[in-house]
This record gives sequence, C-alpha cells and structure tokens, in this order.
Amino acid sequence: MAIKRILLKLSGEALAGNNSTGFDEDIVLDVANQVKQAIEQDIQIGVVIGGGNFWRGRTSNNIGRCKADQIGMLATIMNAIYVSEIFESVGLETEVLTPFEVGRFTKMYSIDRANKHLKHKKVVFFAGGTGHPYFSTDTAAALRAIEINADTILLAKNIDGVYDCDPNEYDTAKKYDEISLKEVIDKNLKVMDLTAAIMCLENKMPMLVFGLNEKNGIINTLSGDFKGTNIKV
Ligand code: UDP
Repeated sequence: MAIKRILLKLSGEALAGNNSTGFDEDIVLDVANQVKQAIEQDIQIGVVIGGGNFWRGRTSNNIGRCKADQIGMLATIMNAIYVSEIFESVGLETEVLTPFEVGRFTKMYSIDRANKHLKHKKVVFFAGGTGHPYFSTDTAAALRAIEINADTILLAKNIDGVYDCDPNEYDTAKKYDEISLKEVIDKNLKVMDLTAAIMCLENKMPMLVFGLNEKNGIINTLSGDFKGTNIKV
C-alpha cells in the first residue's frame, strides 16, 4: 500500500541529540529537510513531539501528578513551536494545534481544521498531548493518527528499532525486523506505553519504528528502504 498520510512521532530526547536537554538544531534541520522531501512527494504529515527533553513526569513530595503533567504538556508545545519554526525556515508551511487555548501562540485542535491543513500540504503539529494528565505523547500520537486516519505511525526514536531486551544492557539483544502489535503488548516490549499500544491494536494502526540518527531515516522508511522494525496489526 502506498503511504499517503502519516503521523510522525518524534521523541523529545532524540531531538536533543547528545545534549540530552533542549535541542540539537542540526538534527531538527535534518528532520525538516527530510519532511520537505516527503511533502514534495505528496505525503501528508502530522507531527507529535514528546516533551522528555524538557520535562517528564517530575512528581515529588511537593509536586502532584496533575501539575507535573501540565508542565509536561506545555513542554511539548515549546517543542512544537521550536520545531515548526525550523520547518518554516526550510520552506515548509506549518500549523501548531493544541487541545486547549494557548492564547495566540497556537490554534485550537479540531479534526476538520487538521484535515484542511493536511490537504493543503501544511505540516500539522499536534502539540499539548491529549490535553489530559495521566496520558503520554505516545497516546496523543496514537489518538491523532487514528483520528486523521493516517496510513501508519512513523515512530522516530533514539534507538534503531524494537529489541527483545535492552541493547544497552544486554549484548545478546536481538532486533526485530517485523513483529505484531499483539506480540509487542504480550511481551511488554518498550515501544510505546500500553495505553497507546492498545489503542493502536483496537483501531488497527500500524507503526514503523526507526532511529532518528539513521541518515535519511524518514525518507528511507517512506521509500521502502526500511531498516527499523515494522509493527503489524
Ligand atoms: N503529558 C500529559 N498528557 C499527554 C501528553 C503528555 O500529561 O496527553 C505530559 C506527561 O507529564 C509526560 C510529558 O507530558 O511525561 C512529556 O511527554 P512524553 O513523556 O510522552 O514525552 P517523550 O518521552 O516522548 O519525550
């Protein structure tokens, strides 16, 4: 099946590169140029970015989960504003949509607005997660991919695919070329959180997992020269 519409999920950490917080601008520029090539090939692209390069579930005895998650969701908006601006700098048109009001910085998400922009070749950033605490940007990516009826989710990570165990811990770790989403869930493989994985299973949303540090990873994945893990439903 030819891929016409995708949801690209970028992890915050992968965008930070070796800096581990903030951004590595060269990495973001590289992503922007690859996305530009994909848009020129008439592929419609929605983007969800994590927030882990700024903030992740930092609860403490003094900070509760709901407030920590609000800060996390705001971190994803900072990421979307930054990345969309870099995308614009290479000639792409973008729109940042959020599920709650952020004054004049973003526009409110609606499926009609998202579809309209996608059809006009704009890259649509779905920022602010789902707008609710106790969820993740994985869940937001699953939800928006299902809503916009994407052909697949491209999951760009700081690891090059799905392994049977953590390759940083075990030399024997084996990468899967292909695996079913059911197996991912049953084996509790760390691809995305369980809520997101189950949503994708129930709604038959496949995924292509690859490393953001692979040269031309996004373009390779879209053109069939795929080196990551194909998660089937
Ligand atoms: N978050 C949330 N609801 C959502 C999406 C995100 O509360 O719908 C918060 C949550 O605190 C999470 C943080 O935003 O820890 C950053 O998102 P995530 O950890 O998914 O980013 P990633 O790990 O992919 O960089």
